[in-house]
Amino acid sequence: MTLFPDMFNDFMRESLIGKAVDKGLIKINIFNIRDFTKQRANSVDDEVYGGGNGMLMMAQPIYDCYRKVMDGKSGIKTYYMSPKGKTFNQNMAIEMSKNSEFNILCGHYEGVDERALKLIDAEEISIGDYVLTGGELPAMVVIDTVARFVKGVLSNDESTNEESFMNNLLEYPQYTRPYEYEGLTVPDILLSGDHKKVAKWQLDQAIEITKKNRPDLYEKYLKDKV
Ligand code: SAM
Repeated sequence: MTLFPDMFNDFMRESLIGKAVDKGLIKINIFNIRDFTKQRANSVDDEVYGGGNGMLMMAQPIYDCYRKVMDGKSGIKTYYMSPKGKTFNQNMAIEMSKNSEFNILCGHYEGVDERALKLIDAEEISIGDYVLTGGELPAMVVIDTVARFVKGVLSNDESTNEESFMNNLLEYPQYTRPYEYEGLTVPDILLSGDHKKVAKWQLDQAIEITKKNRPDLYEKYLKDKV
């Protein structure tokens, strides 16, 4: 549910998500909230009660759009992209991928009338501690992340198992051809053919980078390891 449906056009057609849509592995239905407004001049926003800057999305177009999305169905979770929400992460994406369907509401302007959130029983999700113009980019971030956990979207070669965050570690450095580029060479251990040694090197590197860039994650790694 969005006021800017065109923002999703390329996202749904390109790259991995485009392929997943083509293969029917995922389905993304975009609803334009503006199509549901009963206000004059097709407006969807109004001033904020109690003062404050900017405009707020009105409850009516959102709730009517939601009812159309639900189309009499029940038990489908609705998320509202919001800086006030719980911060999105890989584990949340895995949980969301277990649902066959979910809804996302994208806010804009100063956000949405609180009553809309209450009526649609929305759970708020943030993609990080910063404020964007609208919920469209955050929604694409969530859809993209969740889709990678849907069976068949990634090939076996692209499995999520060894990626960053999977064991509370960030990914180790990786290299491809050529062996030497601008005087920089690939670590020889990666060409040794010794899988045990390569795996140990990768784990050591992952630990080092996690310690340095994400001490919070490294703490979790240590805790979960014991
Ligand atoms: N006034 C709001 C506040 O201070 O929390 C910010 C509104 S923001 C300009 C407009 C919309 O962008 C929000 O309703 C939300 O849908 C989306 N948005 C902005 N930052 C976000 C974030 N970090 N995560 C998820 N959605 C975000």
